[in-house]
Amino acid sequence: MSENGQENKTIELPVSITVRELAQTLEASPIEVIKTLMANGMMANINQEIDFDTAAIVSAEMGFEAVPIQVVEEEAIEEVEVPLWRKKLEEEDLSQLERRPPVVAILGHVDHGKTSLLDAIRDTSVAAGEAGGITQHIGAYQIEHKGRTITFLDTPGHAAFTAMRARGAQGADIVILVVAADDGVMPQTEEAIAHSRAAQVAMIVALNKIDKDNAAPEQVKQQLADIGIVPDDWDGDTIFVPLSATEKIGLEDLLEAILLVADDLEILANPQGEVFGTVIEAELTKGRGVMATLLVQNGTLRTGDTVLAGNSYGRIKAMFDYTGAKITEAGPSVPVSVMGLSDVPKAGELFNVVESEKAAREIIDNRQLEAGRKEADAESAASLEQLFARVQAGEEDELRLIIKADVQGSLEPIVSSVKDLKSGGEQNIGVKVIHAATGRITNDDVMLASATKSIIIGFNVDPDNAAKRLADSEGISIRKYKIIYHLIEDIEKALQGMLEPVEKKILIGRAQVLKVFPSGKYDQVAGCRVESGEIRRNAKIRVLREGKIAFEGGIASLKRHQDDVNEVREGFECGVGLKGFSDFQEGDILESYVIEMVSAV
Ligand code: GDP
Repeated sequence: MSENGQENKTIELPVSITVRELAQTLEASPIEVIKTLMANGMMANINQEIDFDTAAIVSAEMGFEAVPIQVVEEEAIEEVEVPLWRKKLEEEDLSQLERRPPVVAILGHVDHGKTSLLDAIRDTSVAAGEAGGITQHIGAYQIEHKGRTITFLDTPGHAAFTAMRARGAQGADIVILVVAADDGVMPQTEEAIAHSRAAQVAMIVALNKIDKDNAAPEQVKQQLADIGIVPDDWDGDTIFVPLSATEKIGLEDLLEAILLVADDLEILANPQGEVFGTVIEAELTKGRGVMATLLVQNGTLRTGDTVLAGNSYGRIKAMFDYTGAKITEAGPSVPVSVMGLSDVPKAGELFNVVESEKAAREIIDNRQLEAGRKEADAESAASLEQLFARVQAGEEDELRLIIKADVQGSLEPIVSSVKDLKSGGEQNIGVKVIHAATGRITNDDVMLASATKSIIIGFNVDPDNAAKRLADSEGISIRKYKIIYHLIEDIEKALQGMLEPVEKKILIGRAQVLKVFPSGKYDQVAGCRVESGEIRRNAKIRVLREGKIAFEGGIASLKRHQDDVNEVREGFECGVGLKGFSDFQEGDILESYVIEMVSAV
């Protein structure tokens, strides 16, 4: 970059600057800067602060004249992953919103006492409140405390709970993070924190097992404070409640804390509004068909309503509350077990009430088509290249990473190196570290990546087999590195758009097969109507059937009546023959697309 013999360009530098920032200012790679420093007898890593004089020497060697300025603080990047129901709530009429009971999820490391705590809360309150206290397990329950209702999600042992956790404790307003005071912060504690942060859920820390001799609550507080969860009595903003689930100590305090946080949060819904919420759990039962527990988050759900959740739908034949009692309506924050859905919906999925079963089927068909197309474009996959392409398209404003490393000693420098990386330029895309921990890459990491559209970086660690399979099926990219510089270089390249260009399929039209005709030359041709855009002779076609791709390839013949044509527009009918495919069925969708190389620059 140095232009010997020519006058140097002037740049402004602060009194102190990191190697990386200097590289950015000089529009050089950090490696170049480090090499120049080494040539001048100074060993420095990418995060090292160097003083103005040293930076000026490097700048001069690279063709710039440095003059001093003041440091300007960078702005923090905002969180973006908000659960769908919250976004839907924003569409509600503000004047109609009323307070609703808080919904609480209990998260934490295995064996730290989640189940014991849920049982303890349920036992104490149910025994006090209800005759007989018979409770059905429907994955959620409600209690009364000081005349106010609190809804608890109660699914920790359930397989679906992992998925739910990964979707950011979806339905919850408040997360209770259970940390055993005799064990401290463990990997799943950190994951739970990452999930809660990603879902923007308020958090209360329950320091459990304080009855044990080796409980060290102060030490655990320190551990949590070190990772940014600072107790309120240390001037932080998280309430810590010491308790014992088995000895039933501190439970009142916890309930009190929940109400306090709930009052702060303004937890609202419109009981008369659009009906929607989150699927808590669901299963196929012998006598009753599909039973699904739904948490209503807005509106009022009634028997006879038609519910749509993912690909499952149906009219509600009967509803039951958590005690097993039959009810006919459920308002905001009420968990209900409903009977009448066609399939088992997934936990964590959003549900809503639609007009009719026909309307539900139409929505599902359209979604499947969309999903089929997405699959074809592999756009849902979070590879570094694709993520970057999305960033370029303005769909993302940051690169999100989940970092796993073999030892803490590697993790720290990696996190501190990547977290301040910026693309520069107008968009100035940054990096956000969603989660960083030591250990192998697990299913939970992949699910977190899927929920937050992040990519996973493994430093000297591999995914376990289950995680590898899940990553393949979810289209999550796992990039492995052994050398920190390589890792940083890749992220920098991604940010600056120097990665290889990616292929992008651009949809130009869509036609529906109305009739299938025999044809001498190509076995069968499809008689279609173009529903949108156009079908182009020299573009590619993919055949979608029930949302899946049945074939992809080129056109052999495109005719209007008997004439060969180059394109057919929306609203017109045409005959299509494909190269290497003639197994058309009525109702198939033909999509016409062109392939473009989208430069990542
Ligand atoms: P989970 O895996 O987080 O749901 O944990 P569990 O609720 O199953 O608890 C794990 C173990 O810790 C069980 O043996 C509990 O009896 C025990 N445990 C839970 N809470 C307490 C507590 O407050 N004090 C003591 N001493 N043991 C507890």
